[in-house]
Amino acid sequence: MNRRTFLSTTALAVTGMRALAQETMVLQQTPSLDSIEEKPRKVPVVKACDVCVLGGGCTGVFAAVRAAQMGARVALVEKQNAFGGMATAGIVNVWHKLISNSQDRKQIIGGLTEQVIKKLELLGAVNSDAHGFYLNTEELKIELDALVLEHKITPYLNTVYVGAQLQHNQINAVFIENKNGRQAIRAKVFIDATGDGDLAMHAGLPFEIRDGLQPPTTCAKIIGLPKNIRKLIDVHREEFGLVPDATWDAEIPSSSGVKMCAYRHVFDTVATDADQLTAAEIEGRRQVRVYMNIARKYGGEFNKPCLLDLPSSLGIRETRSFSANYTLTGEDVLACRRFEDAIANGTYPVDIHDPKTGTYKFQRLKGDFYQIPFSTMVSDKSPNLVLAGRMISADRVAFGAVRVMVNLNQTGEAAGVAAALAVSGSKTVPQISAKAVRENLAKLGAVII
Ligand SMILES: Cc1cc2nc3c(=O)[nH]c(=O)nc-3n(C[C@H](O)[C@H](O)[C@H](O)COP(=O)(O)OP(=O)(O)OC[C@H]3O[C@@H](n4cnc5c(N)ncnc54)[C@H](O)[C@@H]3O)c2cc1C
Repeated sequence: MNRRTFLSTTALAVTGMRALAQETMVLQQTPSLDSIEEKPRKVPVVKACDVCVLGGGCTGVFAAVRAAQMGARVALVEKQNAFGGMATAGIVNVWHKLISNSQDRKQIIGGLTEQVIKKLELLGAVNSDAHGFYLNTEELKIELDALVLEHKITPYLNTVYVGAQLQHNQINAVFIENKNGRQAIRAKVFIDATGDGDLAMHAGLPFEIRDGLQPPTTCAKIIGLPKNIRKLIDVHREEFGLVPDATWDAEIPSSSGVKMCAYRHVFDTVATDADQLTAAEIEGRRQVRVYMNIARKYGGEFNKPCLLDLPSSLGIRETRSFSANYTLTGEDVLACRRFEDAIANGTYPVDIHDPKTGTYKFQRLKGDFYQIPFSTMVSDKSPNLVLAGRMISADRVAFGAVRVMVNLNQTGEAAGVAAALAVSGSKTVPQISAKAVRENLAKLGAVII
């Protein structure tokens, strides 16, 4: 070994020993709950577009599709591996009726909701009755994929929105994370369709988490349950350690008896708290095991039910409630008030799941249908943000009605149109006229009244 090789070998050995000593020190320390400073880093901008939609539930997909149909370049970010939100990840498979409560059964909902139903009908993936439509939501996933690709929307699946870069109250870019690491998307207008309003919160829009949130449910697809399973659960629940609760289910079309079961609630959960969400996911699945055990013990000849599917997300009903330019009230909904800036119509009654007992408290409408105004989706505090989905501005009672998918799908469509109009007219979202949104929605096939 010559002198140079000797010196560099020795230096390497010393460096190696130091690193080893440091590693040993780390191992000897008790990990502490302080905070860690991350090094500033450059984040690559992977997409620059007109409209970026966060959250790819049906609301978000419909928003993206309408924006694209209006000529916008659109990106769509979804944290699950498929689009559809609660309908697919939560396996909630009921879309309510598209007609009014009046004698003439006037159609009040059309647009993309009706289009998707028609496509699924061709596949035998929908049953319907007077209340609405029962979907095979696995088929819905594929239908939504097709819609996204057909409209040349740039999709980001398995991608979580994590933060925003703001300039004053304007959103410049959003940060996303996926297998490629942390990246950014720049857009002119953003649509928050995350349900929880993750971007709206970061953008500084006022919100509250109400006392007595409607509790979440873990839905499950099960075959072979006894017909009287809901009664059996009620009768035997105490023996199995289940508290009183309200239950419902729906059949999956063309499935020879597979049921979507929504038989429990996970009480006392704020699903925007990560620890509570983790605990609720586990508790919800445990509840499914427990009521299946009731069938195993008391189901008679139906004592071998088969669990076919659990959701990839807890069924979340309510989290943050945002305030926008107008807050829809229970009175508006129950009295079926008409709005000049209406962008959606609905008939689903006020249905509030009790936070302690899970029982449903229905309040019937005093008219044929209610409306959702555009001003519940827009805030003067945020020039380039549109709200869509269950996070629109509604009080507790109004929320109990508007929260169903056939209503929220329409908010998605309106959000997409509004965002595209803002881009093409170089306007802020609050400057967009509701009249223009309504006219364009009508042209695209929505029912505008
Ligand atoms: C158990 C249960 C039963 C229900 N029953 C019915 C029913 O029978 N009929 C009916 O119409 N409605 C029903 N509802 C209500 C309805 O399903 C929801 O209110 C509705 O789906 C909400 O739509 P949304 O688009 O606002 O949110 P979601 O459908 O939840 O969509 C939000 C999307 O955003 C994504 N997302 C969230 N955060 C991020 C993030 N940070 N980054 C990226 N993506 C993100 C989510 O993964 C999701 O795909 C039920 C709800 C529950 C929980």
